[in-house]
Amino acid sequence: MESSDKELIEFVEKNYSIQIVDLKKLAGYIDKNYKIRTLSDESFILKLSSSDPLYFIEAQNQVLSHLSSQSSLFPKILSSNSNQKILTHQNYALRILSFVKGTFLDDIENVPESVVKDFAKKLAQMDLSLAELEIPQLSHMQLDWDIKHTLAQREFLQLIPEINNRRIIHYFLLQFQLIVVPLLNHLRKSIIHNDANPMNVLTDNNSVCGIIDFGDLIYSCTVFEAAIAITYLMMDQENPLDIACSFLEEYHTTMELTEEEISILYYLIAARLCTSQIMAVRSKLQNPENDYTSKDEIKGRELLKQLLYINPIKAENKFREACGMQTLDIQDQTLLLAERQKHISTAQSISYDQAIAMSKSALQYMYDDRGNTFIDCVNNIMHVGHCHPVVVESGQNQLARMNTNTRYLYSSLYEYAHRLLDTLPPTLDKIFFVNSGSAASDLAIRLAKTFTKKNKFIIIDQGYHGNTQIGIDISSYKFDSEGGEGAKAFVHKISMPDTYRDYRTGDQYAEEVDPLITNHDIAGFIGESILSCGGQLVLPDGYFNSIYNKVRSAGGVCIADEVQVGFGRVGSHFWGFEIQGVVPDIVIMGKPIGNGHPMAAVATTSEIANAFDNGMEFFSSFGGNPVSCEIGISVLDVIQNENLQEHALEMGKYVLKQWRKLMGKYQCIGDIRGVGLFLGIEFVKSRETKEPDEDLAHQIVQDMKDRFFLLSTDGPFHNVIKFKPPMVFGKDEADALYKNLDEVISSLTQT
Ligand code: PMP
Repeated sequence: MESSDKELIEFVEKNYSIQIVDLKKLAGYIDKNYKIRTLSDESFILKLSSSDPLYFIEAQNQVLSHLSSQSSLFPKILSSNSNQKILTHQNYALRILSFVKGTFLDDIENVPESVVKDFAKKLAQMDLSLAELEIPQLSHMQLDWDIKHTLAQREFLQLIPEINNRRIIHYFLLQFQLIVVPLLNHLRKSIIHNDANPMNVLTDNNSVCGIIDFGDLIYSCTVFEAAIAITYLMMDQENPLDIACSFLEEYHTTMELTEEEISILYYLIAARLCTSQIMAVRSKLQNPENDYTSKDEIKGRELLKQLLYINPIKAENKFREACGMQTLDIQDQTLLLAERQKHISTAQSISYDQAIAMSKSALQYMYDDRGNTFIDCVNNIMHVGHCHPVVVESGQNQLARMNTNTRYLYSSLYEYAHRLLDTLPPTLDKIFFVNSGSAASDLAIRLAKTFTKKNKFIIIDQGYHGNTQIGIDISSYKFDSEGGEGAKAFVHKISMPDTYRDYRTGDQYAEEVDPLITNHDIAGFIGESILSCGGQLVLPDGYFNSIYNKVRSAGGVCIADEVQVGFGRVGSHFWGFEIQGVVPDIVIMGKPIGNGHPMAAVATTSEIANAFDNGMEFFSSFGGNPVSCEIGISVLDVIQNENLQEHALEMGKYVLKQWRKLMGKYQCIGDIRGVGLFLGIEFVKSRETKEPDEDLAHQIVQDMKDRFFLLSTDGPFHNVIKFKPPMVFGKDEADALYKNLDEVISSLTQT
């Protein structure tokens, strides 16, 4: 026993007229807690507090006196011989509390539902009783753990080491700001325990017999109490909503929650987890000797992932049902469609036989309006993830400050130009900003024409470059299809280098250019660096190199269309053309560039840009505006900071490996191909004849949608399933995709 312990014992024995036979230190950083046993075999908790203001300790005492006078669940505070409830001992506030016996809820594996309900009931009774209490001083306490202050943790976000975890936490902090913060002022408030986690709850014989540790007590939003209790109950559960609902069902019967409180519960649970994750890393930094990762930290991380997967509408509906409230209204699909078609042309198609009404999206997920969560396997526009918080915040910030156009000076324009050009070969040193891939390809064609003073273009069969008149004119995918008018005179088509159906080398395919350039009247060649609408076709080695040499020798320029594949998606390189080892004269980029914000760009050489500056001004009202520039910069930041290019490389290999297994199993898969996170599966009726199986590919996409995976088909025969997910697509999603594809293909091909 340390001498300080001896002094402590003497102090307590003298002031409380008890005789201590045993004193055991309990966990605690700044404050000290001991369990003491007396000669008469009674146990107490001795608390020495130095970190909290006295008024807060007094408030805790007041709450405990109030509660323990009504129920045996709560510790009682012992009065000293001089009838004091707080004494001072060596700069500590000293208190003695009765010891509440029991087994911690945290030590019970698979907590039975009856215990969850008993806990809910007793917590609700406690909250009802606390709601009667008024302790004005408590409103002065500022606690990091008050969910109200969740956003104060935002500045420590960068301390979260694991990138997926950091991204999810950031996402939920943003949602908290959007959804919870506007309600905070008028939500019902009361005194709450604020830490009803299973380490503060005692049980005996399958019933709750104690609620302890009032050190986090606050006056805050009443609903936080239930949110916190639920957060910990949900950890380590296969179906976390189930246990949450068991709790709520019971809690609500005693302590009625409002619809508004229920509507934010999902986000409050996430908020508690975010704070707890950030506080854990902060605490490790402050106490390096205590840098172990607690089990709650690991479980919390997992629960955040689970929460992200749960559609918030599903959570809200489950919570509403548990509280006997009506579930949210579902929009009438037929009505929605009819409304749309009143004013939106049916030339704009809708995915799937049965359309999906989407309500929200998060990183690799999309949520529909009925509570389902879809894994997005096809939207390469949401390059770094749906609603990526870094991108959203950059847009929000700039939108709220200024938006204008390139006729004024603002630094983000050239900062962004620098950043983008840094990713490209040095000869490409000028950039034009526009708003869509179509505007980019249109401009690229104009640049080529102005520079070469020629008019003729070589394009690839089934290529797609845009919806403007020029875009359609150079897109065989459009002018060769239904409603198209075939190639115009200035456009010359070469075969799609489909090495699966028609094996030739890159050089052999490129020979098709020879007869088109004999007159030296060529303005240029445009080609996608991987053929997307063509069916996810990776170009054969040397293909671009050979074409570029020929076109340039005839005076033309070479345009790489990176609208689909750019920005690290191919994994091995940042740009798709780099796989071909060429340097284009013009590069067009779009889709992923702004993660959904409508922006695009054309990079070219000074020589071509100078020739274009012929007196006619180029102006795009929106292209390169300050908001777009900030968003563009943030996308580049995220790709870099989250190592998404490397991730695409690894994940692509992983997915292809799984798909090779499928190919070994199913004859209907004729080919699998692609690089990084730009892949395709080609379906055929027979591997020998390679006869395309459009119906099967279509049905697989439909069935996969019923299993909540978003995919689509492409290729001239519509028999290639495209895979180009947001780059945050992870191993869990890949495994789920593989399993479901396997089941769907199996069910559709078994005769
Ligand atoms: N080029 C390619 C390769 C494309 O896939 C697309 C769009 N699908 C475009 C250009 C046109 O882009 P946007 O739809 O942004 O006009």
